[in-house]
Amino acid sequence: MLKKLFPDTYVDSIHDIDYKKLYEEGKRGLIFDIDNTLVPYDVAHPDDKIITLFEELKALGFKICLASNNNKDRVIKFNERLKLIAIHKALKPFRRNLRKAMYLMKTKKEETVIIGDQIFTDVLGGNRLGIKTILVVPIQDKEEWITKIKRNTERKILDIYQKRSGK
Ligand SMILES: [Mg+2]
Repeated sequence: MLKKLFPDTYVDSIHDIDYKKLYEEGKRGLIFDIDNTLVPYDVAHPDDKIITLFEELKALGFKICLASNNNKDRVIKFNERLKLIAIHKALKPFRRNLRKAMYLMKTKKEETVIIGDQIFTDVLGGNRLGIKTILVVPIQDKEEWITKIKRNTERKILDIYQKRSGK
């Protein structure tokens, strides 16, 4: 059971995945989670880097499907510019909508990969279905971590400043 919670690959972000290698392994369909995988929860639209990446992936020969547990408005708005196959209220880790994603992309299990930030939805869902799973570090956590470092650095600089100015 625990094995079903382990991803096949764990990377820092969607930009650190070796997509060429996936293609060489015979993968043809990529299912992407949205929230905290592609953008933070409170960002409505994809950035240029994501748009470029998806163009490159399509040029490589991949089909792409967005599968989010979030609501219809969120997914439709996010997909406005991308115009991908998209499933809202996907109810991951249930398999039904991941099967639907494969059906829409016309890919088989062995050709399909799910990429997401959550073990209990994305990874578990993918593993239950028997497709390759790639876990990414949640974007929000990463930002919080960077903020923390910045805050600590700021505090140190202010400490030095206050010592030097004798305050
Ligand atoms: Mg997510």
